[in-house]
Amino acid sequence: MQSETAIDRFLTIVSSFSRELNTARKTLDVYHAIVKVLRRFFDIHSFCVLEQNAQTDWSTIWSDSGFPLSFEELLPFVELAKERRSFSFYPLDEGHLLILPTLKAGRVVSVLMGYLLNDPEEFLRENESVLGFIMFFSGLVLENLRLYQEVLDSATVQEGLKKYFQTMLDSMDEAISVWDESQRLVFTNQSYIRSDPNEKVVGIIKNLVTQSYEDRNRNSLEKEIEGHFYSFGTVLLGSPDQVLVSMEDISNTKELERIKKLDQIRTEFVSNISHEFRTPLAAIKAYAETIRDSFSSLDEETGQQFMMTILEQSDHLEELLNRLLDFSKLENHTMHLELENFDLIEQVREVEQNIQKMLEMYEVSFSIETDLAKAVVSGDRKRINQVIFNFVTNAIKYRDAEKPERWAKVSIEESEEEGKVTLSVIDNGIGIPQECMDKVFEKFYRVDTSLTYTVEGTGLGLAVSKEILDKHHALIMVKSEEGKGSSFSFSLPKAE
Ligand code: ADP
Repeated sequence: MQSETAIDRFLTIVSSFSRELNTARKTLDVYHAIVKVLRRFFDIHSFCVLEQNAQTDWSTIWSDSGFPLSFEELLPFVELAKERRSFSFYPLDEGHLLILPTLKAGRVVSVLMGYLLNDPEEFLRENESVLGFIMFFSGLVLENLRLYQEVLDSATVQEGLKKYFQTMLDSMDEAISVWDESQRLVFTNQSYIRSDPNEKVVGIIKNLVTQSYEDRNRNSLEKEIEGHFYSFGTVLLGSPDQVLVSMEDISNTKELERIKKLDQIRTEFVSNISHEFRTPLAAIKAYAETIRDSFSSLDEETGQQFMMTILEQSDHLEELLNRLLDFSKLENHTMHLELENFDLIEQVREVEQNIQKMLEMYEVSFSIETDLAKAVVSGDRKRINQVIFNFVTNAIKYRDAEKPERWAKVSIEESEEEGKVTLSVIDNGIGIPQECMDKVFEKFYRVDTSLTYTVEGTGLGLAVSKEILDKHHALIMVKSEEGKGSSFSFSLPKAE
């Protein structure tokens, strides 16, 4: 019966102690729980706790006000606890000191000191095992709490690091996304979300991701998508095996580059054309002076030759002036048409006369294909002639030197749309890359090929042709395939 009561009491203490410990979140909570349980047996006036913080240093982590011993006075008792590694009591002048160490791996890591007003002897006889248990159990709980705190701390550090990198990535203008091997999106920064990439963009990103997985390498790409220029770059992240893709809209930079280039070309154009004026002017002046100075002594034939040269050079001057005028009309959109009825076939024949030297030089054959006897249309004859001349000279200039037979032909036929005639200039030249098709009509634009550097041109011909045809409300249709050839067509209304 006696022992049963002791067991009952032991269990009651253990369960209330466990309940107290359940709510313990901090080390100090554990000590307060211990003291609360101990107060069932002892009249504890006050208590304090000392803990070993470094390998050897001890410090007070809690001390009730009114606790009678100072830190220095307590240190010898700490030594005592370390020696005994079990609880003990020490009589003071008044009352007793309870020394309750907690152990970790057999080493004393903290000591709870209680100042008792009653004599612990009586309690000790019956409850020694309870105190032993409290000491052992507190050690376990304190160790668990420490581990729990460590886990919490490292989770906080990780969470902090994650936030740090997320903020850093979110502050970037580049849209960042991370993809796994099955092309699943695993991370995005704010810029990526803001950019709200459409299907096309996502398709390009996914292709780059696949390529990076295949090559086990980083990739980069610049691409124009629906009027925007994007720069893409990939990086393999390692473990986990994922690919980071950065994407930047570089349209503004590209536009700036284009404007700068345009400005430079424009300056070059004006300077070149001014230079070109000098040669015919100098020739005209020289011949005119010769005629003036030796007017009476010149025989008729020489005089005629001189006059012919002056005329030829004046024509050249006029052509240069027209080019300049066209350029300025293009800039100001001030081109005016002089409408008349004329035969398109005749215009092509006229152009044919003027390109003979060029055909020889570039070794290109030329033909006119038509079933029509006449193709009389209404429009500005000179301007339409200029368009045909431009299309035909381009078909010759941009020939494919690799091909054994190079040809350019003009076909004139009834349009599908009634009352119109369609003229097409077709060649088997180098063709135009798909992505440059729209741009060839921009002022000064020239497709970047090796030919561009060897073939004379300003990049204005098609821009002027388009302006002329726009004024005629005629669409230009272009078909071209790189390496195969091109075809430029337009339709004009038949004259009534
Ligand atoms: P230019 O011939 O003076 O360079 P254009 O405005 O006539 O200027 O043409 C613009 C660009 O379009 C050319 O530089 C060339 O790259 C391309 N191009 C025009 N016509 C053809 C063609 N028939 N075949 C291939 N490329 C062409």
